[in-house]
This record gives sequence, C-alpha cells and structure tokens, in this order.
Amino acid sequence: MSIDDVLAEELEWRQPAADRRSAAPDVMIYCDRLVRIFKISGIEVQALQGLDLVIGKGELTALVGASGSGKSTLLNILAGLDRPTGGKATVAGHDLLTMTSKERLDYWRSTVGFLWQQTSRNLLPHLTAAENVALPMQLAGVGRRERKRLAKDALELLGVGDCHDKMVPEMSGGQQQRVAIGVAIANNPLVLLADEPTGELDNQTAAEVFAALRAANAETGATILVVTHDAAVSEHVNRTIAIRDGRISTEVLRRTEIDESGAESHVAEQFAALDRAGRLQLPSEYLEALGMRDRVRLGLEPDHVTVRPADAIPPGGREQGHTRPGAGNTANDQQIGPR
Ligand code: ADP
Ligand code: MG
Repeated sequence: MSIDDVLAEELEWRQPAADRRSAAPDVMIYCDRLVRIFKISGIEVQALQGLDLVIGKGELTALVGASGSGKSTLLNILAGLDRPTGGKATVAGHDLLTMTSKERLDYWRSTVGFLWQQTSRNLLPHLTAAENVALPMQLAGVGRRERKRLAKDALELLGVGDCHDKMVPEMSGGQQQRVAIGVAIANNPLVLLADEPTGELDNQTAAEVFAALRAANAETGATILVVTHDAAVSEHVNRTIAIRDGRISTEVLRRTEIDESGAESHVAEQFAALDRAGRLQLPSEYLEALGMRDRVRLGLEPDHVTVRPADAIPPGGREQGHTRPGAGNTANDQQIGPR
C-alpha cells in the first residue's frame, strides 16, 4: 500500500470547522488557538502556543501552572492590556484581536476588573478602605450617598466591614487584598481577573481571600479567573485548569455528591485537555512507563480510544492500525497494510 492510499483511506486528520461557541450565550471567555510571541532583541519567546479555553458565565476558575508557563500573558490579554499575536480571544463578545484603542479603554473600564498580586498596585494608600472602593464608582458617575452605601455593603460582603475607616497601611495584607476585590467589583464588571492575588500571603490568609472571591462570585455573578500556584487554594473552586508551555494541559472538576443517607462527599476528577484539532498531552510519567516516543498506535474501541507504543504487538497478535470510527468490524479487520 502506498502512502497515498494510506492518506486517502485512513482517518481524516483534518482541521475542525470554525467553532461557534464564542458567540454562545452561556460563554464568557473564549480562546481558540491563542498565540502570543514576544520578541526581545531578535529572540522569540512563545508565551502562548495555541491555547484553547472556554469559560462559562459566572464560573469561578483557578488557573495553575509553573512560573513562565504563560499565566500572566493570558490574563493580560484577557484584560485587554496586551494584544495577542494570533488566534482568537473573546470576552463577553468583545473580540480582543480586532478591538480599537478606544474600545479597549471602554472594555477596561466597564467589562473587566483586575486584581494584582502587589497590594500596593490595587489600592491608594492615602485613602480609607471605603474611599478606595467608592473611587471607581465616583469615576463612573455614581452619586455620593449611593457610593457610600454600596462601598459599605461590599466591604461587609468581603468580610472586611471592620476596615471601613482604616487607611491602607493600617490593614493586614489579606485585608488589603479583600478590599482590593471590593475595588475591582465596584462597577459590577462581568469578569474579574486576578493574577496571583494570594502570592504574598500565608495559607490561612490566602484562604480568607479565596472566601472573599467566592462571595463576590456568588453575589455579583461575575465570572472569575484567578491565577494561583497554591494547590491548596484551588480546592476552593469547582474548576482548576493547568497551563503548561502556553497551553491548557489538564483540568480538575470538583463537585459535591449527596448519597441516599444525606451524607455529603466531595469528588474531584482530573481530565486531560483535548483541543479542537484532536490534540491531547499525555503525562510524561505515562510516556516513560511505556517507553512511548515519536509515534504511537491508536485504536478506536466502542467506548474508548487505545494508545499503544509503536512496537507493541496488540492483543490478537496481529499488527493493528488505526481503526475506523463507525465501522462495525473488529479492529483486526481494519489494519493498514496489504489487503
Ligand atoms: P507566568 O505568569 O506563568 O509565570 P508569563 O506569562 O509571565 O508566565 O511568561 C510566559 C513566558 O513569556 C516566559 O518565558 C516569559 O519570560 C515570557 N514573557 C512574558 N512577558 C514578556 C515580555 N513582556 N517580553 C518578553 N518575554 C515575556
Ligand atoms: Mg505571572
């Protein structure tokens, strides 16, 4: 059999048709093969290497990954602070690649809230907590009495009602970050992005900041994406996505189950990301355990796909090729090779 026959006969490894999910009403953040390349003195760094991501409206998601994996790059693009090199990215229907400078400014003011790791970047030190939270409302034209009331409510929601009249230096780091969440949600943004907001805090304080993020999510319905490298902290969210080399590699979904006796249990399941072109990343431990490299044998079974080392003799003893989806025959009848 010639290579042309193989190409004509076998599975179609084609690119998928355009995905229309970016416009779906329940989708807030949508990235399709997003690429960001930085060039410094002629050297290219591919910070995002074709990243796919869909986040629904109102989700609270943690983003984890090693230093340099592209987390901040992704957040800055989603915030409209940086422009992608290629691919597609939309947030609340705004196309982040084609936006004009004016749209970008409007977007930054009205659609997203941002929380930085450095507390000093989030708050003005010569104002009280309440004044900090009220300031964005003032800039948006909210009346004085209304802003006072809303700022007080926000501080209470975030568990820092007692900091109302405190100046920034009088508050602890955790309190400052909770007030900063109040600033970020002051004008009811659709999306709140937080880049390692607990990076400078101890575990206990970080948990309090996460509780405040959960409260903000529940109260305002804002979609929240929070970068953290604290694995314990990601237990506070239903969905944790892991980024590796500028792509989403795995995700963990958590849910609460209640059995017949009414007892609650928390279930966490890990998934590998599968992109729209059909690519997935196998964990390096799996590859090493079976000595897989360069190429593998794929097989389609009724309810799963097999991945075998290229030199493995499959069950049945015969060479096995790609099995064809939908065909009712056994795998051995569908080998690649002379017929
Ligand atoms: P993370 O936030 O996960 O630590 P970053 O998104 O900051 O990672 O960085 C991803 C990669 O892109 C790194 O290799 C980093 O050096 C590079 N990078 C990020 N920002 C820039 C920039 N402004 N100029 C050049 N390279 C950058
Ligand atoms: Mg970073």
